[in-house]
Amino acid sequence: MTIDRIAAKVRAGERLTGDEALELYRRAPTSFLGRLADAVRTRKHPDAVVTYIIDRNVNYTNVCVARCNFCAFYRPVGSPEGYVLGFDELFRKIDETIAVGGVQLLLQGGHNPDLPLTWYEDLFHTIKERYPTFKLHALSPPEIIHLSRLSQLPVAEVLERLIAAGLDSVPGGGAEILVDRVRKLLHCHGKATADEWLDVMRHAHHAGLRTTATMMYGTVETDQERLEHLLRLRELQDETGGFTAFITWSYQPQHTELGGSEATGVDYLRTLALARVVLDNFDNLQASWVTQGGKVGQLSLAYGANDMGSVMIEENVVRAAGASYCMDEVEIVRNIEDAGFIARRRNMHYDILGDPIFRQRNVPRMRELATARADGDSSVPEELRFYPARSRAGKTSRA
Ligand code: SF4
Repeated sequence: MTIDRIAAKVRAGERLTGDEALELYRRAPTSFLGRLADAVRTRKHPDAVVTYIIDRNVNYTNVCVARCNFCAFYRPVGSPEGYVLGFDELFRKIDETIAVGGVQLLLQGGHNPDLPLTWYEDLFHTIKERYPTFKLHALSPPEIIHLSRLSQLPVAEVLERLIAAGLDSVPGGGAEILVDRVRKLLHCHGKATADEWLDVMRHAHHAGLRTTATMMYGTVETDQERLEHLLRLRELQDETGGFTAFITWSYQPQHTELGGSEATGVDYLRTLALARVVLDNFDNLQASWVTQGGKVGQLSLAYGANDMGSVMIEENVVRAAGASYCMDEVEIVRNIEDAGFIARRRNMHYDILGDPIFRQRNVPRMRELATARADGDSSVPEELRFYPARSRAGKTSRA
């Protein structure tokens, strides 16, 4: 089929087959692909509103047994640079988030064998007691699988217990590319196969949770495998309708074992546009300004994105791999409005919460992203001694 015929199908709101989408991705000029994605975004969001959320991306531990070769964030068990955040540190972070108008914590971390399921349950319970309306968007599918293996409980039961403790929604991290050939090469097949990742999301959706979906591209995958990833997400969304949004970002190579170079801005915009055209059953696509920078992030709004993601207060994972872009609410809103859109705050469900908060009251400006822990701070939280450690290093430190 010619590019024009495929484009006509997209404009008519018809679903593309894998072959048609691949043809479009390989052969359509970038601006053409952008215009198509923009037409789909406009059809789904005719009111010219671009949303964002104020939340805090907190990584509660960097200790991880998974050892993905694209990750610069993790530290092995027993490393002097390994950390676990204490409950009090997390409460302080929540207080700071609320002070700038934040509504939720995006809580993710390494697969730490010395944090049992009860640690998460106690943390979630305590947060909900102290901050009843504050939301917990927490634990990506591989973390839930890790907890299932650690506790020897089925995924559905782990999810049930976490929901009872206060889990509100599940972030779509750890998807990378949902093709097992790629996952084996990235050493992330052990933490979750493509089917296992999708199955956690299926369980979460059936349990009534909404989740996001992600894709990290630009490592070892082919363009066909990028597309396969999107098709697998589209299929699960047809089945459950549980995904609120899709977010894609490029692999950040600095300080990683895998190395290599980063995908270009054009590659990002083409991939985002492809996602908008293929994921016809997803309402929301986020711009990944954290990896692409504010300027490409703003351009994303012409390539299918209708959301600027999160006002980042803290970032640890992408920063460890070399990217450290920072935009507070004022900057995000400036980028949205300069691109000709109306900026609105939202929650994880994409309900509109209101106009920019800095126009309603004074909020502190953030010129720099916070980190989980200050450099050199190796303090061990007091409450950890109440939880059994699994690793030898953990047992020794808690003896
Ligand atoms: S990407 Fe996540 S699971 Fe993989 S090594 Fe890094 S922290 Fe661990």
